[in-house]
Amino acid sequence: MLVLKPAPLAKIWGDKALLDYGCDDIDGMIGEACTVCADPKCSSLIVSLTPPITLAEYYRMHADQFGWTGPFPLTITIVSAREDLSLQVHPDREKAKELEGLEDGKEESWVFLRAGAPIVAGTKCRKEEIPMLIAENRWEEIYARMAIEDHDYVHVRPGTLHAISAGSLVYEIMQSNDVTYRFYDYDRTDSQGNKRQLHLSKALACLNTELAAEKTRFEEGRVYEAERYRISSRRIEGKTEIENPEEVFACITVLEGSFLWNGISVFKGYSVILFPKEKAGISGRAVLMTAYAKP
Ligand SMILES: [Zn+2]
Repeated sequence: MLVLKPAPLAKIWGDKALLDYGCDDIDGMIGEACTVCADPKCSSLIVSLTPPITLAEYYRMHADQFGWTGPFPLTITIVSAREDLSLQVHPDREKAKELEGLEDGKEESWVFLRAGAPIVAGTKCRKEEIPMLIAENRWEEIYARMAIEDHDYVHVRPGTLHAISAGSLVYEIMQSNDVTYRFYDYDRTDSQGNKRQLHLSKALACLNTELAAEKTRFEEGRVYEAERYRISSRRIEGKTEIENPEEVFACITVLEGSFLWNGISVFKGYSVILFPKEKAGISGRAVLMTAYAKP
């Protein structure tokens, strides 16, 4: 088993709430706690090894232990949004190949630990109208909003216009391919008066106006199947065992509480990786989210 401490990722729309989810403080605001991440830019740290190394390094050396072939498939973060995030689109497999030469696109899901303002969850116009609405700066007529409550699950298929809104605290799971096209940023500027770069032509190439994010309640013990991963949560109390019966690794993230394994404290916001068929005795009181990648 590997115990992962999250890497803090600075974002202009972040805050300091993720200090409570295992992040060390950094200069600036923290938008994401990268709790299972093998991207060298923001890799989680394996604190159960001496000396600790990043998951990115470990996976490079020991990919054979994970029951997976190819690049590390998942990225799991806790997102804390003080402000609205920009509107984005991710490509599907076909578009990722065509636009970036990548093997796969990006599917994404959110579990709202705390709901904020209504999210952006699709479009409300026809695709042909979009260039004209953009030219006339009528962005609000393009995107559709969806109200969210605590413990909602939202599934975002590739090609869906989407954004998390201010006040949200979210468990986010996605395919690890680094393909995000920014569609709109509410015309915001930084302290120098510069807007963040948009990727409009690629975003429009991927955008499917037939798609909307799908919302359902997130309940403990129920399995939520996406195309390329599945998640479920459970509550533990006292001495117990966590087990991975599958042929592929499991990512288990602490959403509430903490537990102890082998003298190591696994705090809220931390994750563990259980290798295929591995079992571990733990004790504590926690809510645990388990995720598996699907080929
Ligand atoms: Zn996204």
